[in-house]
Amino acid sequence: MNAPLPPKSDAGETLHAALRELFGFPGFRSGQEEIVRRAVEGRDTLALMPTGAGKSLCYQLAAMLRPTPTLVISPLIALMKDQIDNLPPGVQPHATLINSSLDPVEAARRLQGLAAGQYKLLYAAPERLRQRQFVAALRSVNVGLVVIDEVHCVSMWGHDFRPDYMFIRTALKEIGEPPVLGLTATATPTTERDIAQSLGREFEVVRSSVVRSNLRYEVQHVENEEGRLRSALAHARRFSGSGIIYARSREKCEQVPSVLERNGVRALHYHAGLDSRDRARVQESFLADRARVIVATTAFGMGIDKRDIRWVLLYNFPNSLESYVQMVGRAGRDGEKSTCILLASGPDATNLRRFARTDIPAIEQLRLVYRALRRGGVDGWVEAEASELASEAGVGDESTPRVLVAMLERAELLRRDYDVGPAMRMKLTLPAPEDTPKRIAELLGSYETQALAHAERMIQFADARACRHLQVAQHFGESVAVPCGMCDVCAPDAHAGTASPTAEARPLPTDIGRVVVDAVEGFSWPLGLKGLVLMLKGSLAAPRSAQRAEAFGALAAAREGTIKRWVEQLLDRGNLEFFEEDGYRLIRVGENTDLPRLASLPAPRAAEKSGPSRNGSETTPGSDGTLAGGDAELFERLRAWRTRKAQELGLPAYTILHNQALQELASLRPTELDQLGHISGIGPAKIEKYGGEVLALVMGTSVSPAD
Ligand code: ADP
Ligand code: MG
Repeated sequence: MNAPLPPKSDAGETLHAALRELFGFPGFRSGQEEIVRRAVEGRDTLALMPTGAGKSLCYQLAAMLRPTPTLVISPLIALMKDQIDNLPPGVQPHATLINSSLDPVEAARRLQGLAAGQYKLLYAAPERLRQRQFVAALRSVNVGLVVIDEVHCVSMWGHDFRPDYMFIRTALKEIGEPPVLGLTATATPTTERDIAQSLGREFEVVRSSVVRSNLRYEVQHVENEEGRLRSALAHARRFSGSGIIYARSREKCEQVPSVLERNGVRALHYHAGLDSRDRARVQESFLADRARVIVATTAFGMGIDKRDIRWVLLYNFPNSLESYVQMVGRAGRDGEKSTCILLASGPDATNLRRFARTDIPAIEQLRLVYRALRRGGVDGWVEAEASELASEAGVGDESTPRVLVAMLERAELLRRDYDVGPAMRMKLTLPAPEDTPKRIAELLGSYETQALAHAERMIQFADARACRHLQVAQHFGESVAVPCGMCDVCAPDAHAGTASPTAEARPLPTDIGRVVVDAVEGFSWPLGLKGLVLMLKGSLAAPRSAQRAEAFGALAAAREGTIKRWVEQLLDRGNLEFFEEDGYRLIRVGENTDLPRLASLPAPRAAEKSGPSRNGSETTPGSDGTLAGGDAELFERLRAWRTRKAQELGLPAYTILHNQALQELASLRPTELDQLGHISGIGPAKIEKYGGEVLALVMGTSVSPAD
């Protein structure tokens, strides 16, 4: 179709006719018509529209109505092909893409097709613009409109920065400054300004509401990992339709589905570590409703057009409200009521704050990369592959140096040019400005402020007893009438059925040793140490046979770490013993029938509604040694005491008590001298020397079990 631009007065008429004819839709959704009209007219437009509202249609239709070709820059190479495959028959023949999998002859053929008017739409990834030849070719095909999908990726302070988006501005200049249509689901007024500044354009903004009135927002406070698992399972059972569970780590993505499966819910996992075949297979199963639940990192779902996702559960805090909106926005695209649950906990909030800080490149990393570049330069020009820089400067994987280079560029210490083959090419600003260190420090300072502000805003969203829809709306500069009727704050009883998914813990028995030995005696299927502990804890992660056992959950009131220590004590004394079978180390009852009195440490305090929780595995010192809330406070107090003591005695601090011991003290909070023996690294000598002081510190801060 090669419709010339209609006269103004019929414009609306023509747009509607084209919409019906080409796409078969009876009418525009809110915001679409205005965006299409502006794009057809070639005005710089920034379109803000919620996920699923139909952004692609805007540029696809506009491109069909424009006289010259349209370039679509989309960050998701994997999805470009899907997008084109899913175009209606009247449009599809007019769209094509260029990516690295094409041989040069085919790529050239497509560009010729574009020049000849055979194609109206060309999709390419932003990396492509770093290739001089590609941009030169674009110049010759007379691109009349550049569409930038997910345009928030251009913002360095945003949640999804892509270094190659920074180069779009240069590419635009090279191809004659064609008009730009930028599209995104999530931009706060601040991001909006950053986008305009980074692209060097003044946009007319078309903003549709971020409010998705068919989504019910719920926040559920959980106490620990077990609570999370229970909640995930309860929700997978609560809803019959398709759902996505988003988790932060790949490890969780794999663990959660296996727990769900064990408990009768079909689930698959998806993360960036899967190879492309597996990823395609998982997506396919989900789209075809063969897998009802997908547990995934954020990598999953961007651009996936599944209309009937009935629920999204965020297993961990997302980095920001922007990410929250993106992720939950994948639910209910068909307009039917759908539910979005965020699981919140004090320890996870602590983790989020920590990630916000550790995600920020350190000054040291920036300096190392900058120095490596200074060494490699000739007349200020440097060529380096990201992987080389990563190993030379010792900074993480390949994506890190790209971000670092982008930051140096932002600080105007260099300019990154077209790539040379696989290498980045950069021109250093020479002589290096005198205030270089200051520039870098300032840049990192604002980076950190932004990242922490994002995290805080996210945590506050969960903690505040304020309408969830209103909070989201206000964050994006909008408002909404309250009570909204569609969140757990405004309409709390709608999900009463799953309000408390945590199993009631039975009180701890007095004869712990007996209970453990009986549990082992009653095995219907032998277990190893981990399986036994999970069984006694009553964890959903326990093997299936263990979940049916009578002893399942018998020690649920104790922490996993404590149970493990008890079992180890019984193993040490020969009440239990290991044996090998088929290469597994399993546990059976031992010779020694004389059971010890196992000390039961103070019962964990009942968790507060939103405060940090000391209950359960999340607050046991993790492998990375993090503690939550009150435990962290006590840890600091113990550490301060150790410093004083070390100075007093003229000894190195670690010889007094090492960090692991302090962490265990802070989370287990023993109340009697002999209980100190359970803490790693504390033996009789240390108990005698420091026991009294340590206990006084612990007890002085510990909350009595009664409250
Ligand atoms: P997003 O805004 O998240 O990029 P998409 O462009 O993927 O959303 O569109 C989501 C879905 O909405 C697609 O299936 C698309 O076909 C459909 N859609 C878009 N515009 C309309 C319309 N005017 N009428 C009906 N369906 C539409
Ligand atoms: Mg889209």
